[in-house]
Amino acid sequence: MIQTDILIIGAGPCGLFTVFEAGLLKLRCHLVDALPQAGGQCSEIYPKKPIYDIPAYPSILAGDLVDQLMEQAAPFEPGFTLGERAEEIEKDEEGQFILTTNRGTKHRAPIIAIAGGLGCFEPRKPPVEGLANFEDHGVEYIIKDPEFYRDKKVVISGGGDSALDWAIFLAEGVAKEVTLVHRRTEFRGHLDSVQKVMDHASEGRIRLMTNAEVVEVQGEADLQSVVIKKKEEGMHTLETDHWVPLFGLSPKLGPIADWNLNITKNAVEVDTFDYSTNVPGIYAIGDINSYPGKLKLILCGFHEATLMVQSAFKRIYPDKNLVLKYTTVNGVNGF
Ligand SMILES: Cc1cc2nc3c(=O)[nH]c(=O)nc-3n(C[C@H](O)[C@H](O)[C@H](O)COP(=O)(O)OP(=O)(O)OC[C@H]3O[C@@H](n4cnc5c(N)ncnc54)[C@H](O)[C@@H]3O)c2cc1C
Repeated sequence: MIQTDILIIGAGPCGLFTVFEAGLLKLRCHLVDALPQAGGQCSEIYPKKPIYDIPAYPSILAGDLVDQLMEQAAPFEPGFTLGERAEEIEKDEEGQFILTTNRGTKHRAPIIAIAGGLGCFEPRKPPVEGLANFEDHGVEYIIKDPEFYRDKKVVISGGGDSALDWAIFLAEGVAKEVTLVHRRTEFRGHLDSVQKVMDHASEGRIRLMTNAEVVEVQGEADLQSVVIKKKEEGMHTLETDHWVPLFGLSPKLGPIADWNLNITKNAVEVDTFDYSTNVPGIYAIGDINSYPGKLKLILCGFHEATLMVQSAFKRIYPDKNLVLKYTTVNGVNGF
């Protein structure tokens, strides 16, 4: 059981900044995110795009903003449960929340801060019969740790950056065999990645199959082979240890919708006094919340996080006095 003061659901920019603001009040945080990396939309959707409306940064790449937020949070030693979706919330006899993820990891905290953005990014799954039987038995939709594929035969499907980048990475001395399957002949990814895939293909490090798609998965308990349909050549059975369809991720509110929170248009209603929800002890900040005048902007989420932790502190320590101290005066004293 992971115990913390504020359990943050969502490690996007607003969740990460919460760690800093909470840390100034000596509150510890732990973040849970369904994605394998921190940064939310900034890391997942547009890491290389410049953002122009972060105060004091005339321009900053979204990925760099995440790096800076991680550095700013570091003195407060946040814990992370990544690659796991927050699934169920219940209360124990001491009034603390117990949060369980889809992988069964349990977390306990007096406060929950939902910073879930647009919700969980769910993988777009190809319509292949029996696919669910092989999930986590050879079929994965995101690559969390490339080492998992060391010396394995891997088939990757997709034509975007994710598919290209992972095919390249795994082909460069990690996997035993890499096959990249794509429905078309043109790729959507960056030109230099496409070129690299072509180079690896001509040098035999990647087996490239275009105008092709995986139509069948075969095996006993674990995946053993996939059947690939090529437009002109017909069916082709390929032995493999893994099939990784990388067809993108789409956000869904997911389990948060079942936590008895007041929800309007896929967002959690909050009181703008402290961004509390209708469930005492649960707050919602960033893109996930809704109130009159709400703007889905990072800087608004930062403001919400700052006010929210003050309220959380008073809930945890009702008898303690909280005095606002400037960081210029007090510094940043980590744990
Ligand atoms: C292309 C693009 C450009 C943008 N440009 C700008 C800009 O210029 N300026 C600006 O201010 N904003 C911009 N935005 C919006 C900005 O990215 C969002 O406002 C910001 O990411 C919201 O941060 P967040 O922390 O609230 O949520 P997110 O960044 O969405 O992060 C939420 C995290 O919560 C996780 N999560 C959700 N549900 C669960 C669950 N049940 N269990 C575990 N994890 C969960 C998700 O996996 C995700 O990682 C842009 C957005 C896009 C898509």
